[in-house]
Amino acid sequence: EAKRAGGGDYAIFDASMREDAVGRLMLQTDLRQAVERDEFHLAYQPIVNPATGAIRSFEALLRWNHPTRGAISPADFIPVAEEIGLIRQIDRWVMREACAQLSGWQRRFANPDLKLSINTSSAAFAECGFVATLAEVLREFAIRPQSLELEITEGIFLHPSPEIAETIAAIRRLGVRVALDDFGTGYSSLSYINRYPIDTIKIDKSFIDGIGTNRQTRAIVELIVRLGDTLDLNIIAEGVETQEQTDMLMHIGCRAIQGYHFAEPLSARDAGERWHATTASEVNRFPRGEGR
Ligand code: C2E
Ligand code: MG
Ligand code: MG
Ligand code: MG
Repeated sequence: EAKRAGGGDYAIFDASMREDAVGRLMLQTDLRQAVERDEFHLAYQPIVNPATGAIRSFEALLRWNHPTRGAISPADFIPVAEEIGLIRQIDRWVMREACAQLSGWQRRFANPDLKLSINTSSAAFAECGFVATLAEVLREFAIRPQSLELEITEGIFLHPSPEIAETIAAIRRLGVRVALDDFGTGYSSLSYINRYPIDTIKIDKSFIDGIGTNRQTRAIVELIVRLGDTLDLNIIAEGVETQEQTDMLMHIGCRAIQGYHFAEPLSARDAGERWHATTASEVNRFPRGEGR
């Protein structure tokens, strides 16, 4: 099934490709070459304040442009990359690429407030040396750690270990924030936020879908937003597609939303322009970086 994304539609990626052995093998081989052949790029989806439309940050989303099959969704190739042990390399590429882009934007717009979040797979996260790599990339691109947030999924906690808690703590000691992605889809979502020091919760799209029509779903989302206020967690609603959902979320008190209703994942250039346009009025009132 084709899926919409920034900069065009994904090509039809036949699900049977994934299942039959020959198709899998081809995908694995192509994926290995993709890294060397520079076939990846990042799209950037704004996270906005629903009341003002102001962009709070961007989420970097990986894109693979296959030479013959066209765009393939990360939902299709990331599991394969995990299987063949390529995900660490890919996630490292994402980290460097995202930080290079962020530092470019921060210099170009003379605005250090621009923030970015990056997805991390559990395999890359659990790798020893992950935090050292992160610190190194921050230094290399002169990124303030406060500008960065790492998104992890609840899959990380499937095999709980003291190392995971220690890695999260070490990342936060660096000054980088940690977000729990797809919140509510795991086995024991509430216990995770009780056990691990998290800064941000991203409420999964499956809850947002039902918010306008399902009283029960709305009550759950409202509860998560209240919990965020009480525990001092940032709450982001994912996959917001309609004005009705936006209104409902504002009514509930959610202060950050992400979804096609406001913006799809954008090319780096479009994202930069969008950021520039929405902050231009403030920059004009409070000029920064004069002479640049
Ligand atoms: P995610 O991190 O939960 O990202 C949100 C996904 O929902 C993205 O799909 C985004 O394009 C899509 N989306 C955003 N707003 C809407 C909306 O209003 N409606 C709908 N239907 N979808 C929306 P995408 O880019 O295909 O990524 C899928 C997943 O692949 C991500 O889910 C994330 O888990 C993973 N992923 C993406 N980039 C990376 C990466 O650089 N590294 C790793 N490890 N995983 C990544
Ligand atoms: Mg994410
Ligand atoms: Mg998500
Ligand atoms: Mg996801």
